[in-house]
Amino acid sequence: MRVVWMLVAFVGGGLLGLFLVLPRTRMLRPRRVLACDLCQRRHRRLLAAMVVLALLSVAGLGLRVSQRARELPACAADTSIAEGRRVIDPRAPSRPPPWSTVRSVMTAPVSGLALGFAEARGQGLCSVGDPPITLAFVPQAGEHMGSMVGEVFLASPVPRINPVRARDLAEHESRHVDQWAVCTIVGGISLLPVLYLVDDTLYPGSENHFEQAAGLFDGAYPAPPDPPRGPQGWAIALWIGVVLLLTRRRIRWAVRTLGRRTAVTDPARCGVHTTGWR
Ligand SMILES: [Zn+2]
Ligand SMILES: [Zn+2]
Repeated sequence: MRVVWMLVAFVGGGLLGLFLVLPRTRMLRPRRVLACDLCQRRHRRLLAAMVVLALLSVAGLGLRVSQRARELPACAADTSIAEGRRVIDPRAPSRPPPWSTVRSVMTAPVSGLALGFAEARGQGLCSVGDPPITLAFVPQAGEHMGSMVGEVFLASPVPRINPVRARDLAEHESRHVDQWAVCTIVGGISLLPVLYLVDDTLYPGSENHFEQAAGLFDGAYPAPPDPPRGPQGWAIALWIGVVLLLTRRRIRWAVRTLGRRTAVTDPARCGVHTTGWR
């Protein structure tokens, strides 16, 4: 049973999930914590969240595997995509390098979810680049080229760019796949969207660290503004607020404990979950 939970934790929350749920780390905590009903409730909620994330991952993996079974046409030209013609890639498929395989496996769940979303909108799929990324067309507003979700590039219908720009863009998006893979290993499918959101509010547009790491020029981003706009004050205030909200009980516990040697705790609760500031 413990192995099953570890598997659920890793699939749902990556190494971070494993660390949070791992029985050994629970044993490190004092027995009082295990006796606290609120701590136990929190742990049950954590497990429930892991199960939901793990189920999402498995569903995405299933979608990705079922799509892999059907061979995708290569995205050779806009017309072939538009006319739904199948274009055979003339090059013999070479053995993919190990990292390419690892990142394919690690990003498969989120890629599958993106494919499910793209297929629900009834748009075509094709394969481009080396290592390959899957191109899916979804109606999108604005001039934005598209977004990388796992190995799937959700693009606006039939983007018209010249082959050189297309190759640069494919390299830029391929680096985003690396970011997805690393984040999924560390914290499951939800880590990259969260980190990207936090980074993008603090450092918008060309100052975003994920975009800088993927290459601003290749991704058709303008040079970062000088002087820099980030970090933005409102975003700092927002995220400090979120951290304070999440750690409020620990702050209360610290305030109560630091001043005195013996802190009074509720007999049925741990120190962190004992109410009151004094
Ligand atoms: Zn507690
Ligand atoms: Zn990008």
